Amino acid sequence: MTQTTAPHGHGSAALAAEPGGPGPAAVFAELYGREPDGVWAAPGRVNLIGEYTDVNDGFVMPLALPHTARAAVSRRYDGVLRLYSRDVPGGVVSLRVDELAPHSGHGWAAYPAGVVWALREAGHPVTGADVALTSTVPTGAGLSSSAALETVTALALNDLFGLGLDGPGLAVIGRRAENDFVGVPCGIMDQMASACCTEGHALHLDTRDLSLRQVPFDLASQGLTLLVVDTRVEHALGDGAYAERRAGCEEGARLLGIPTLRDLPYENLAAALTTLADAGADESVMRYVTHVVGDNRRVEQVIALLDAGDVRAAGPVLNEGHRSLRDDLRVSCPELDLVVEAANAAGALGARMTGGGFGGSAVVLVEEAAAGTVAEAVSEAFAAAGHAAPGIFDAVPSAGARRLR
Ligand code: ADP
Ligand code: MG
Repeated sequence: MTQTTAPHGHGSAALAAEPGGPGPAAVFAELYGREPDGVWAAPGRVNLIGEYTDVNDGFVMPLALPHTARAAVSRRYDGVLRLYSRDVPGGVVSLRVDELAPHSGHGWAAYPAGVVWALREAGHPVTGADVALTSTVPTGAGLSSSAALETVTALALNDLFGLGLDGPGLAVIGRRAENDFVGVPCGIMDQMASACCTEGHALHLDTRDLSLRQVPFDLASQGLTLLVVDTRVEHALGDGAYAERRAGCEEGARLLGIPTLRDLPYENLAAALTTLADAGADESVMRYVTHVVGDNRRVEQVIALLDAGDVRAAGPVLNEGHRSLRDDLRVSCPELDLVVEAANAAGALGARMTGGGFGGSAVVLVEEAAAGTVAEAVSEAFAAAGHAAPGIFDAVPSAGARRLR
């Protein structure tokens, strides 16, 4: 099959060169003229099922990708924070930890700087650091390159300053950085996935209380593959539409007199829609409610199927999830619909868009033996429609954030 975005290896070999250039330790030594105190990695993620549910206190089911953000980091005690990324233009960004303030720019560096800010806001004594970052997580593809950056920074500082945070604790810090420092209103799924996923598993996460279960998801032993198809498009519509969907969900919950849509069981959906209609709710609000309640149920359905060892039967549930995202929540786009259509026509078991929508990526569940054919069919459909070639790779369920050395 076409491997257009190469995942990199694990272990000591990964400390040397990696796709995109030298690894973080080499970059660190070159920049700062000494060895780092340590090197850490945190993955991007893809969500198998459960979309727009994390902003409604519901269930999600992400898995970590083999692609990681890596950080070589040393402590400082003089209040200086130096940040560098191999992957973006511009040099070292130098800041003072006691002058960090939300929404004050800094471009990409706001993600790691926001983590330092959030840690200090939470009372953790982070007195400065030198940081060199590299990442193989595709940016802006809905695969959470931003959460990988936050999580790897939080884990490195946690270890170096002995802060004693666990995975969910790191995720809360990363989300705080993204929501309140960078100013992106995301849910907690991305940071939890990057911090808490384990190899060979999908993460069943309850975003209300952050309780979680590692669900065995060993595709290879079942002769299956999960493809990620990065459409390489991002429609401008995205930001406003995301906020509008969230507001619509909140309005639905308010009209139903419940704290969040998580509190509406699937069995009560029909009655709730009648209540909403009687209350004069917007038709779009009713559709958003339908999607969120349905996707929470689909997470439960997929988990029951995985626990029963019937992974193939999850395919139709993915298809139904896509239909709901396209028709009820209306966050798909022609490129994502084309991936799902072309993959299914070529014999996939099921497919859906994943992430916020309006571009980004889709997941395709497929027999391992048919993965090449399906990937080619999707690429050909893109070419025929005049779209740029998509990036396609295997979503091997990989490890969450960890120290490499
Ligand atoms: P996603 O998280 O889906 O990839 P986002 O828009 O949330 O997309 O985050 C992308 C942003 O994260 C980039 O615009 C950049 O600011 C930052 N980022 C991601 N990877 C890197 C990297 N390797 N180096 C520097 N900044 C990065
Ligand atoms: Mg992001």
